[in-house]
Amino acid sequence: MTAATPPAPDTQPTDWHDETIALHGDAALAQDAAVVAPIHYSATFRADSPQAFAAMANATRPTGLYTRYGNPVYKRVEAILAELEGTETALLMASGMGAISTTVLALVSKGDHVVAQQRHYMSTTKLFEEVLPRFGVEVSIVEQTDTAAIAAALRPETRLVMLETPANPTLSLTDLAAVAKLAAARGILTIADNTFASPLNQKPHELGIDIVVHSATKYFGGHHDITAGAVCCSEEHAELIWKMHVTLGAVLSPMDAWLLLRGLRTLPLRMERINANALALAAWLEQQPQVERVHYPGLPSHPQHALALRQMKGFGAVIAFSIRGGFDATSSFVASLRLATHAVSLGGVETLAVHTAAMWAGTMTEAQMQAAGIEPNFVRMSVGVEHIEDLKADIGRALRATQAA
Ligand SMILES: *Cc1c(COP(=O)(O)O)cnc(C)c1O
Repeated sequence: MTAATPPAPDTQPTDWHDETIALHGDAALAQDAAVVAPIHYSATFRADSPQAFAAMANATRPTGLYTRYGNPVYKRVEAILAELEGTETALLMASGMGAISTTVLALVSKGDHVVAQQRHYMSTTKLFEEVLPRFGVEVSIVEQTDTAAIAAALRPETRLVMLETPANPTLSLTDLAAVAKLAAARGILTIADNTFASPLNQKPHELGIDIVVHSATKYFGGHHDITAGAVCCSEEHAELIWKMHVTLGAVLSPMDAWLLLRGLRTLPLRMERINANALALAAWLEQQPQVERVHYPGLPSHPQHALALRQMKGFGAVIAFSIRGGFDATSSFVASLRLATHAVSLGGVETLAVHTAAMWAGTMTEAQMQAAGIEPNFVRMSVGVEHIEDLKADIGRALRATQAA
């Protein structure tokens, strides 16, 4: 049996749509005739000669050598992610936080100043507020919906601006194009956490952002089964970040990289259904008497809806809404859900819901929650791909049960 020759890299069209990229964006990296990529479950790779070993050992981002340095499965996932985000390359890591902390630590040094948002993913906030200052990096925390406040925070020694949009807890947005322009004019790097949108809904690099980071645990994996992260950027930045990655070691298992590759094949299909379900559900929730307020960028009632229409193509899975009756009513609503699962995370095929204030009660004081905008009656829901009528039936029943309680 002879293997079919894989297509030469330069025969791959560069003008494919996202739907096609997700399925075939790694085709040029196929090494044999298998339709599905093999899992390279090996921590180390053989060299055929002393010269080949020396070349592998001294290469930047080798495909072989040792899995902390690289693995063929990573390369296939990275090819697809880079094409989806429109960046030169991508780097896979063991988690979203692995990707974010490795990227930031690769780029900042003692004496640098960085700007971050008032509202970030909780562990990102900890990195900026607690970790970086310990190493002599000065951090300004700025209200991200106010581009002028971001502009005012920039200094001559500002090295980077960290952005995330949409962001918890109220799905507030950051104007990516405006901040990218401000930063670029001063030679300041920009990083955007694009986890809540996914490149199917928003492409930060096309809006001028330098580096795009992801928790691939969410939409990319898509099945609530793996933890993974990614950085999409230029070859130059990837080399710097990869060197830090080899040192910090947030390395993804080849099996999980393969599951991520399989998840990516259906990303565009899943996003289409998720966007449609979440928009329909958000509009429906707004009409329910037991619901006080719905936060979703796709709704005209969202304070930054115009910006959402400008920088997003779809609005994603996450809806935040508040239940009339305070903390206890909200707790009983979440407990009454049967189809929607009571669990954290987002972007997978199943609908998940959490009572945000209950989740943070052990780690944050009431004052901290208030500062973070977490109201006691918030529900955060990640809408999945179930039939919309079944979701409405489940949520409607839980809302009525809550009212009766
Ligand atoms: C989940 C998440 C992260 C962290 O990702 P992990 O894969 O859990 O490490 C970072 N940013 C955002 C916006 C997230 O939702």
